[in-house]
Amino acid sequence: DRVISPAEAADDGALDRAIRPRKLADYVGQPVVCEQMEIFLQAARGRGEALDHTLIFGPPGLGKTTLSHIIAHEMQVNLRQTSGPVLDKPGDLAALLTNLESGDVLFVDEIHRLSPVVEEILYPAMEDFQLDIMIGEGPAARSIKLDLPPFTLVGATTRAGLLTSPLRDRFGIVQRLEYYSAEDLTRIVRRSAQILAIHAEADGAAEIARRSRGTPRIANRLLRRVRDFAQVKAGGQITRDVADQALGMLKVDGLGFDHMDRRLLQAVIEKFDGGPVGVESLAAAIGEERGTIEDVLEPFLIQQGYLVRTPRGRMATQSAYRHFGLAQPRRDGA
Ligand code: ADP
Repeated sequence: DRVISPAEAADDGALDRAIRPRKLADYVGQPVVCEQMEIFLQAARGRGEALDHTLIFGPPGLGKTTLSHIIAHEMQVNLRQTSGPVLDKPGDLAALLTNLESGDVLFVDEIHRLSPVVEEILYPAMEDFQLDIMIGEGPAARSIKLDLPPFTLVGATTRAGLLTSPLRDRFGIVQRLEYYSAEDLTRIVRRSAQILAIHAEADGAAEIARRSRGTPRIANRLLRRVRDFAQVKAGGQITRDVADQALGMLKVDGLGFDHMDRRLLQAVIEKFDGGPVGVESLAAAIGEERGTIEDVLEPFLIQQGYLVRTPRGRMATQSAYRHFGLAQPRRDGA
């Protein structure tokens, strides 16, 4: 498993809850999202209505779940949480919907993984707050309609392109989360260090932030691992030097790439002559799932300019060659 895997499973539940911001004012960075959400939330509150259905997309660990909790908190309503793969029967969704109170937030993570039958139930529920469901089977089957209280569906997905267009069209608010700057991540690391009573000097926090792949979840996780290192090897104080040594031990390099990032870039360079290489071939070459490459690995490498996606496949850039101390081969016409 990746030590800095942005996936939820490896999070430490209690610590994670302690450092997750609850109010919009504590949500660091994402200025565009925050400015818009502040207005939409205030307007909905002023009218005494449920917030419009909201779709949040962005790579894992950037704050989609956190934002959904903040929406519920700011609207002073309950949050019910589920995910696309878990909701596999229409009855499961019907049970959740009929238990909502007026204005509640229903958070559906990985909403692109809803099954088509469940998605069908969601359309009238989102549009008219109506539940339209078949009960029974065969000749005794009948359809029933129920009124639902007004509610807010908050859907999260790693890529907006994965959603069917009828589902996407039913969201009144669409927010896209961006990778965080090193400054914003430094604020997040310092805030978490304070909550967890970890002694981190300013440049120690900055070093962790700089090597966190633009991702708050990774920053928080690295902070905890660097704390372990500091406790055992350096009297508990996280200085820049301690952070650097700890991150080196964790095999997180100077750019924040971990061994999976390096493996991917090295495969493109060494096994495919720098590309272009199709994502399937790349997945086979590094023994990783295509979805992980597309959702987790390559968005950051592309955003940082180490990989490009062309119609013929992925290609390593000059920066990637330079990072590994290699010379980029000359290409025809280049
Ligand atoms: P996602 O749902 O997109 O995978 P999460 O919302 O679970 O990501 O965020 C992962 C962790 O990162 C959270 O536990 C939270 O502590 C932290 N985090 C995310 N976004 C922010 C933010 N804008 N400000 C501060 N901390 C954040």
